[in-house]
Amino acid sequence: MKIYNTLTRSVEEFKENESGKVQMYTCGPTVYHFAHIGNLRTYMMEDVLEKFLRYSGYDVKRVMNITDVGHLTSDADEGEDKMLKGAKRENKTVLEIAEFYKNAFFEDCKKLNIKTPDVIEPATNCIPEFIKTIEGLMEKGYAYFADGNVYFDTSKVDDYNALTGHSSDELMVGVRDDVSEDTNKRNKSDFVLWFTKSKFDDQELKWDSPWGYGYPGWHIECSSISMKHCGEYLDIHCGGVDNIFPHHTNEIAQSEAYLGHKWCNYWFHVHHLNDESGKMSKSKGEFLTVSLLESKGYDPVAYRFFCLQSHYRKPLTFSYQALDQASATFTKLKKKIANLDASGEVDEAFVKANREKFISVVGNDMNTALGITNIYDVLKADVNGATKLACLKDIDTVLSLDLVCEKSDEIDPEFTQKSELELEIEALIAERAEAKKNKNYQRADEIRNSLKERGITLIDTPKGTEYKID
Ligand code: AMP
Ligand code: ZN
Repeated sequence: MKIYNTLTRSVEEFKENESGKVQMYTCGPTVYHFAHIGNLRTYMMEDVLEKFLRYSGYDVKRVMNITDVGHLTSDADEGEDKMLKGAKRENKTVLEIAEFYKNAFFEDCKKLNIKTPDVIEPATNCIPEFIKTIEGLMEKGYAYFADGNVYFDTSKVDDYNALTGHSSDELMVGVRDDVSEDTNKRNKSDFVLWFTKSKFDDQELKWDSPWGYGYPGWHIECSSISMKHCGEYLDIHCGGVDNIFPHHTNEIAQSEAYLGHKWCNYWFHVHHLNDESGKMSKSKGEFLTVSLLESKGYDPVAYRFFCLQSHYRKPLTFSYQALDQASATFTKLKKKIANLDASGEVDEAFVKANREKFISVVGNDMNTALGITNIYDVLKADVNGATKLACLKDIDTVLSLDLVCEKSDEIDPEFTQKSELELEIEALIAERAEAKKNKNYQRADEIRNSLKERGITLIDTPKGTEYKID
């Protein structure tokens, strides 16, 4: 398998470490709000990478943290803790907020067919590990205490900018535009490992430490959690491109300083999903969540299809028009598959050859778009339906698009027709909701009445509009 490595800025042949198990670490969500569909693009592409590794025969251990403390509103140690902000917004405790949004995150993942990682570790579970790493850094002279906080001294590491290839001065510009300078820092790029003092004294979660009562910085969490579960060597570290600096740059600096050797071989970064106005946001404009897409009648898996159609290293712009197009293509594709005749003998040699082809195209730096092309190649191939279904089941262990419904063994002749009707009703319900939002009650009533004439009754409930076919 070939994969782009941010660290070397090139596509490389993937080689696992000697342990025989691929150790994969993913920066998990900061659980102060729902994930937006941009965040989920990143988790989806990481999911494809994990599944592809397994499909290609690797044994994988995947670890993900849950950031429930220490991630400030600016990635560079400034501002309020995002968790505290969430708690204030909803008048709840930080732990209540964490529990609620962690569960919401995994529900979204389930809807998008994202596999749950082998290990999920909340940061608040690992305070002794963070303290141990910080103590080690202090002993080795990589960290210093200044006015209540412990800082990492970036001037002590040889190649602080290895991951970005740019000087930190250049990179700090965007990050620090709106925040004041912390005069305790010996170098501009130094970062906090442990806070006992911040401008926000109402921080809810604090712990005892050798440096005083306080809380960990965000960066130390990922290094320590990764070492706790994956040991001293990591094969792949994943995240979105915004994590490259400062988060992952700082993770490398402190992990390698602590361990005294190279830590992680491959850095996998997913480019952002943007909306038409630019950066996706949880606070401005429409907050795009999986539930919002569902309420508008979209199948979450169609969103997965939309994302898989483009390369993870390219920015992707979300629009409803683009999603409509992807949804229509996806529905057509699923119908084609549902109509395949499952009887007959599977041509195992063909399935094996297709598997090799799929590995060679997708394995070239996670080319999921060509993975989707492979679905169409299978459908066009001169083999029987049973063989096509076997191929699709096989590659869907990576793509996870629910290509083959279990029911297709005994195709319901009404299936195609039924799903078409369902889709039409769902689209009309979404249009009616939009019309009502825009105070176009005439159109909303038109939709209700025309459905009624066809024997379909719309029922408005607090959870949205449902329907009954008479
Ligand atoms: P957070 O919950 O803010 O820590 O972010 C969770 C993950 O989503 C991180 O890996 C981010 O790099 C990633 N991410 C943030 N914004 C976007 C976006 N617009 N598109 C794709 N990934 C994103
Ligand atoms: Zn992280």
